[in-house]
Amino acid sequence: MLDAEFFRRWLAAVAVSVDREADRLTELDSAIGDADHGSNLKRGFTAVAAVLEKEPPATPGAVLMLAGRQLVSTVGGASGPLYGTLLRRTGKALGDDAEVTPGQLAEALRTGVAAVAQLGGAKAGDKTMLDALEPAVAALGDSTESFAAAREAAEQGASDTVPLQARKGRASYLGERSIGHQDPGATSSALLLAALADTAEG
Ligand code: ADP
Ligand code: MG
Ligand code: MG
Repeated sequence: MLDAEFFRRWLAAVAVSVDREADRLTELDSAIGDADHGSNLKRGFTAVAAVLEKEPPATPGAVLMLAGRQLVSTVGGASGPLYGTLLRRTGKALGDDAEVTPGQLAEALRTGVAAVAQLGGAKAGDKTMLDALEPAVAALGDSTESFAAAREAAEQGASDTVPLQARKGRASYLGERSIGHQDPGATSSALLLAALADTAEG
C-alpha cells in the first residue's frame, strides 16, 4: 500500500532530479522552444517540495492535488497547467483514502494523463510529454514492480520523440525543423516516472 508519505517522497525525488537535470531540460528546450523548460520545472517542483514539507497533507490524493495547484501557480508556460492538471486529476481520482494500491495509482494516473490530452489537445506522436506519459501509464499494473516497466516505457517514449515533427506547443512553430531533437516535456515526464520507480524501490 502507498501512503501520503510515499507520495511526498516521490515528489521530493522529482524535485531533486529536476534540479539535477534542469540544464539539460533547458538545453533541449533551446533547440525547439524558448529555453525555459528546466527553469520552469525547477521553480515549480522546488515550490512543490517546500509546500509539502511545510503543510504535509494526510492522504495521497491531497498530496497530489496540493502539488498540482502549486505547479499551476508557480510555473508559467505550457508545462505548468499541463503537469498541474496531471497531478490534480490523478489526485482527485485517488479520492480520500489514506492508502492506495499500486493498481489504484495506475488507474488514477491514466485518468490524469487523459486529462492532459484533453487540455492540450495533443495525442501520441505529436512530440509532447504525452509520448512519454501514455506508454508509461499503459505499462503500469497492479504491482510496484510495474513502476520499473513504466520508467523504461517513459524513457523509450522520450527518446522516440527525436524523429517526430512537433504538432503541438511552441515546437510546432518550427515545422520540419523540430525533427531531430528530443522533446523537453517528454524528457521531464520520464524523470517523473523514474522518480516513482526509484521511490518504490526505496
Ligand atoms: P513553454 O513551451 O510555454 O515554454 P515549457 O517549455 O515549460 O513551456 O514546456 C514545453 C513542453 O510542454 C513541450 O516540450 C511539450 O512536451 C509540452 N507541451 C506543450 N504543448 C503541449 C500540449 N498542447 N499538449 C501536451 N504537451 C504539451
Ligand atoms: Mg519553453
Ligand atoms: Mg516558455
